[in-house]
Amino acid sequence: MIDDVFTAEVESIASNGAGVLSKSGQKVFVDGVAPSDVIRARITKEHKNWATAEVLDIVELSPKRRACICPLFGICGGCSLQHLVYDAQIEAKAAILKDALFRIGGFSELPELKIKYNRENEFGYRNKVRFHVDRLGQVGFKAKKSEEVIPFYQTNPPEVKICPVSDTGINAFLKKNPSLKRETTLYSFKDTFLIEGEKGKSRGKVRILDRDIVLDVNVFFQSNAVMLEELVKDILFFAGEAKGPCLDVYSGVGTFAAFLQDFFPAPDIVEENKDALALARENVGNLGESFAISSDRWAKMQGTKKYGFVIVDPPRQGLSPFFRYRLCEDHPPVIIYVSCNPSTLARDSKIFIQAGYRLASLSMFDFYPQTAHIESLAVFF
Ligand code: SAH
Repeated sequence: MIDDVFTAEVESIASNGAGVLSKSGQKVFVDGVAPSDVIRARITKEHKNWATAEVLDIVELSPKRRACICPLFGICGGCSLQHLVYDAQIEAKAAILKDALFRIGGFSELPELKIKYNRENEFGYRNKVRFHVDRLGQVGFKAKKSEEVIPFYQTNPPEVKICPVSDTGINAFLKKNPSLKRETTLYSFKDTFLIEGEKGKSRGKVRILDRDIVLDVNVFFQSNAVMLEELVKDILFFAGEAKGPCLDVYSGVGTFAAFLQDFFPAPDIVEENKDALALARENVGNLGESFAISSDRWAKMQGTKKYGFVIVDPPRQGLSPFFRYRLCEDHPPVIIYVSCNPSTLARDSKIFIQAGYRLASLSMFDFYPQTAHIESLAVFF
């Protein structure tokens, strides 16, 4: 019942970063708590099978807690796990990924989960941000579960806060530009600094491992370059063991294909965003066919080419239905699935398993420390 007050221990962290507790067999979600905290909480919303609650007191503090370095934590919608020591964040995310594969994917066992992260990259990792502006033009991020913009500029004492997860170049920009005329996307990594809306400055090159990749702030690009390098290395490991031809679907600016062209002559790519695809044509010198269409439209096309190696990196919704069906029908010997959403990865994996694939390898990459976002790599043979 709403307003019920109860005391319980936080059991785990849910995929949205909230703590999970049980109250008379019902699951209750509470923001801002750590596993093993014992809390007194008040129910704020009842749903059919679950409820949400707010913390009234923390009766026993978990050893997994720590002080947050960002003064906007809890208000800003960006981070949800900063109050956990880094190892506890990794542990929570690994559990969320596995739980999705067991529960939604129907797996009874999983290959050993390999976890890639970089402790030195726990803060200052975020290379791409979109700054919003409030009615006064002050720059900020959106508040938790709201459209309100929380400005970095604080009047008392007058000071521009920085965003501890963002790259130093982004924070230097923020210090100089606490207000802007409009929403603006920036990209900053080492010598590369790109900004939306300034002529000639939205597009440039970034060094990823041994090559320069052309990107534009107006199209998708991975926002943690250090982890991207780790991900690319792992993808290339599997490419080294495989035969072509190669197909890169949801290719963006062709980052993966730019490396995969060393292993397979002329990779083909599918990417519905024409601007991203134009950049991919620059990035992949030895490009095969490029399809500026959706994965579903590609799946409905007549095609007789038999791919040996298919890499997919869909948005949060996961693979589109026709495309997933076509993959199972064509049955390439290797499917590499880069996922930013464990639930849709699990849903799609279940269908691959039904089609006779085996989950041969599973890795998690911590692209987004301090948040509950999970990036993973699943390899199907
Ligand atoms: N692999 C790339 C991009 C991944 S992001 C990289 O690492 O940079 C996902 C990409 O899929 C985006 O570029 C988006 O434009 C594209 N996309 C989203 N839905 C799509 C669809 N249904 N069909 C084809 N491309 C799609």
